[in-house]
Order: sequence, then structure tokens, then C-alpha cells
Amino acid sequence: MNNLSVSFLDLQAINKRHEQEFQQVLQQMLDKGWYILGDNLTNFEKEFAAFCGARHCIGVANGLDALILILEAYKELGVMQPGDEVIVPANTYIASVIAISRSGLVPVLVEPQPDTALIDPLAIEQMITPRTRAIMPVHLYGQVCEMNTINDLAKKHSLKVIEDSAQAHGALYQGKRAGSLGDAAGFSFYPGKNLGALGDAGAITTSDDALATTLKALRNYGSHIKYQHLHKGINSRLDEIQAGFLSIKLRLLDADNNRRRNIATQYLQEIRNEKITLPVAIDPLRHVWHCFTVRTQEREAFQQYLAANGIQTVIHYPLPPHQQQAYKEWNERSLPVTEKIHAEILSLPISPVMTDEQVDKVITTINAW
Ligand SMILES: *Cc1c(COP(=O)(O)O)cnc(C)c1O
Repeated sequence: MNNLSVSFLDLQAINKRHEQEFQQVLQQMLDKGWYILGDNLTNFEKEFAAFCGARHCIGVANGLDALILILEAYKELGVMQPGDEVIVPANTYIASVIAISRSGLVPVLVEPQPDTALIDPLAIEQMITPRTRAIMPVHLYGQVCEMNTINDLAKKHSLKVIEDSAQAHGALYQGKRAGSLGDAAGFSFYPGKNLGALGDAGAITTSDDALATTLKALRNYGSHIKYQHLHKGINSRLDEIQAGFLSIKLRLLDADNNRRRNIATQYLQEIRNEKITLPVAIDPLRHVWHCFTVRTQEREAFQQYLAANGIQTVIHYPLPPHQQQAYKEWNERSLPVTEKIHAEILSLPISPVMTDEQVDKVITTINAW
């Protein structure tokens, strides 16, 4: 095997592509002297709302705050009360669950479908109680959940649908983007996401005017007019410099996602190893491959073998939320589908800057295992 190395995600190379434009953004900011809640943010919010097909985008400090603020806004609007329940997949990144707890609401964990690892719509209905107020589907690894079924259930039981779109920027479901498929959506622009800032950043998209107005105030000390405070808000704003960088990167997002799709297609067609189960893509445009996650019962050996051959991999995630110390009260619970997924998954390198040689190396190395 050749000694070409393959990093999991080469962020330096991803951002290097925009070096000159980033420097222009910085120079403009230094010349102007305006750093928070300015034109860069307003422009990015317009662009990202249009991209997603939502009426509003509200920039915030990170993806966790995006989810927390949506729930806080629903409390301000009288839609939710402390102690109400929000249904969330048990195998999500812990941020989705923490957002619910932090807002004084109760996360209700639901098992995913074993093949896609996406929340199981049939399992949702069994968990609906008189206290349920919302469903939070997570478009995990970049693939959109069964939104028609979820929206039908929500309608039937008068629930809000809050998309956790932190891994699914640009994913399409029946011609509509993630971020326009529920009542509101939270996005993260953490550097490693498909659309990543050069630091922390996040956003909410929604077409609900009242919710958007409340969110704009909540992220800025509950203030819609300077020094007048309607709500006990927080400080969670998206910096001008990050908004400027994000506008530049947004223009390449569809092309970057297409490159990820091409790599994923090649992996799906060419990886052949009895010990490896490949991920399931329901339909091509519905997936933006934030992670290409394979499964194997010999994960530790497989990961070590790849590392010895210069291929870096990551486990998304080693321990599910209900087995974390932070949720001691759930540690005794049994969620077998979730636990099996967490024990077997491994994410392979996938990114818009991977070369064909690197993709080939990953495939031949895996096939030789
Ligand atoms: C990254 C992520 C978040 C949180 O985003 P941050 O910007 O890191 O706060 C939330 N949910 C999911 C599914 C994520 O992957």
C-alpha cells in the first residue's frame, strides 16, 4: 500500500481556497470599524434564508444556542411551558438533548431506524403524551429524516417540528431544503460542518413571522429597540467577521456537497468487505454526507488498521446521551438500537478537498482488510 496519508477532514485546505476573499472581509471590517449586528450579518441572513427557502434567518453564536433559542421563543410565545416534553432521537449528538434540558423542557428519547440511524416515525407516535409539544428530528450525518410522516404526526397532535439541521446544510427533501421542512430549524456553522465558519457560529431559519421577531430580540438581551427589553434574553449573536466569511463559503456549498456525494457514491459502489456494512442513502439529493459512517463489529481493530495505513477516522459518537454522566438519571435505560449503532459506527474521511488518489486509497485499503 502506498504511503499517501488521508486526514479525516483537512480544514486548513478547505479554508485555504478562500484565503484572499477572507482577507478582503477582514480589511473591510478594519476600515469600517463595525463588529456586531451590521451589514455582513444582515446580508448573510438574507442569503441563507433564501438558500434554505425560509422567510427568515436569525444568526446566533452557535448551533446549541440556535436550538435553545427556538425553544425559549416558544416559551415566550406561550406555546410551551417548563416541564413540557420534546421528542428527540436517542442517537443524536448530545447538543440536541442538552438544548431541551437547558430550556427547562423534558427530552423524550426515541430509537432510530436501524438502517438509516434516523429517528423512527413509528416510534415517535408511541411516545406522544398530553405534555408533548414538539418533535425535534435530527438530520443525522447529513440525511433528511422522514419529514412527511413527521409533519403529519405533528399536525395530528398539534406539535411543533424543530429540525436539528446542524449536519444537513443544503440537503434536499422533495425539492425543499433542510431548514424549510418544519416550523423552525437550528443550524451550526462549527468549523467542521459542511458550511463552517472560522470559529463558532449558528443560525435559525423559520417562516413563522412571530417566532422570528421573538428570536431576533431574544438573541440580543430580549431587545428589539436599543435599551428596551421585552424579554429576559441572552447574548448570542453571530459576529460580523464570521458572517462575512460564511457568505463567501455559502457560494461554494452546493458544489462542495456535490463533491461529497461523488465520493460517497464511489465508496458505496467500490467498498467491498464482508465485515463492513455501508450506510444507506434513501435518495441521492436528500444526503449531503456530513459523515460517511460505516459499521463493523470489529471497530477497534478496523480503526487501528486504517490508522496504521495513514487513514484517519472518527467515531460519531462513542457514547450515546443516555449513557453519559451528564444524564445519570438515564444510565440504567436500555435503548438497544442506539447502543448497537454507537458500538459499531466509524466515520471515514469525506470532504470537498479530498483528491481522487486519497479516495482510491481509502477504498483499496478497506477492501484489503
Ligand atoms: C454540531 C451539532 C450541534 C451543535 O452545534 P454547535 O455549533 O457545536 O453548538 C447540534 N446538533 C447536532 C446534530 C450537531 O451535529
